[in-house]
Amino acid sequence: MTFKLSAEHEAIREAVREFGDEEIKPVAREHDETQEYPEELRRKAAELDFVSPHIPLEYGGAGMDAISRTIVTEELWRADPGIGSAIGSAGFGSSMIMEYGDEWMKEEWLPRIANGESASCSCISEPAHGSNVAGIETVAEKDTAEHGSASPASTEATQDGDEYVLDGNKMWITNGTVADVAVVMTKTDPDAEPPHRGITAFLVPTDSDGFKPTKIDNKLGIRASDLAEVVIDDVRVPEENIIGEKNEGFYQLMDFFASGRTSVAAQAVGAAQGALDAAVDYANDREQFGQKIKEFQAIEHKVAEMATNVEAARSLTYRAASHVDEDKDDTAVRLASMAKLFASEHAVDVADEAIQVHGGAGYVSDHPVERIYRDARITKIYEGTSEIQKNIISDRVL
Ligand SMILES: Cc1cc2nc3c(=O)[nH]c(=O)nc-3n(C[C@H](O)[C@H](O)[C@H](O)COP(=O)(O)OP(=O)(O)OC[C@H]3O[C@@H](n4cnc5c(N)ncnc54)[C@H](O)[C@@H]3O)c2cc1C
Repeated sequence: MTFKLSAEHEAIREAVREFGDEEIKPVAREHDETQEYPEELRRKAAELDFVSPHIPLEYGGAGMDAISRTIVTEELWRADPGIGSAIGSAGFGSSMIMEYGDEWMKEEWLPRIANGESASCSCISEPAHGSNVAGIETVAEKDTAEHGSASPASTEATQDGDEYVLDGNKMWITNGTVADVAVVMTKTDPDAEPPHRGITAFLVPTDSDGFKPTKIDNKLGIRASDLAEVVIDDVRVPEENIIGEKNEGFYQLMDFFASGRTSVAAQAVGAAQGALDAAVDYANDREQFGQKIKEFQAIEHKVAEMATNVEAARSLTYRAASHVDEDKDDTAVRLASMAKLFASEHAVDVADEAIQVHGGAGYVSDHPVERIYRDARITKIYEGTSEIQKNIISDRVL
């Protein structure tokens, strides 16, 4: 056992940091203000394997281990959470395709996502169902009548079976207006008891008739990242677009809870480190009462606490990551929830203290800390709120 990263991990960190310093930081404020999705940067990041590093080599990805993926996410978010989110989320839903999809789905979509040509999205949440995934109401009904109107979901796939018709509303969908393909969670057995037994995942190209995304453009933070509400209005897909097994979608989804939450923990660590970096720079520069503010013990102690919390969050996150690939068991789930809870709560606190170190200058957009404060806040909400993480942890501790 070692608590040190390997030389390969350090090299990955250096490479992402260089990309972040040269390509992301200079345009971070602009993208926050304009809310423009950074498609070009996504493509550039893909050339360096920073988009969807989890995709295996055989499908054009980098096949990185969980610690490497954690480092990539952390460094992208350290440079800027908004652009980091846009790049890091480009493969949302691709894990489901990778683990449970048929070969044609993997061959058609994974290389395009890995090389930056396409983005994907994962449509789970709905206006009335966020934390309670099992409650979703989007339905997929089999249409066995004479048909032929469905556009083939794949240029490769032949439509020789029945179609499903999908109807419902999806909410808070990252990449909703920029994705080319969606993984849509539906109810195929709305009367199933317990309700999570009736859920099925579908692969839906976003140019399908009836897939209607509307951009949400009044976000608090991560404003470079695309977010949408998606109306799913009689979307027809062939039966072969079911990902994995019918009515097994919830269990399939559960397989990715630990890795998803570890990834959000890494986002939070990166945001917190970015805030700490900015606070250290400012404390080294700003003078009051004839001395650098870093010489006031109040500032020294503040920075010491911030740095300790960032390091503790990082340790817990890497520990969770070390369990994600091999052990999809309760330990991975527990550690991932702990890492997400701790890292996200402290990211917001660290960003708050970074603003304090800046005084009035921290309250305006000339410095990155007000942006990081807004950006970091999302890590307490998505992939399961802090309250849900506490439920998961206590279930495994009590
Ligand atoms: C920027 C952004 C991006 C997102 N991206 C995606 C995406 O790509 N795909 C997707 O499907 N979803 C996405 N989401 C949705 C996100 O996962 C949900 O917002 C989140 O799960 C919370 O659901 P909710 O908003 O419905 O809140 P609710 O579930 O209504 O929760 C409201 C409050 O009640 C609390 N609460 C609820 N249930 C319990 C409980 N059992 N015990 C204790 N407290 C509870 C919550 O913690 C919260 O404080 C995104 C959201 C945002 C804001």
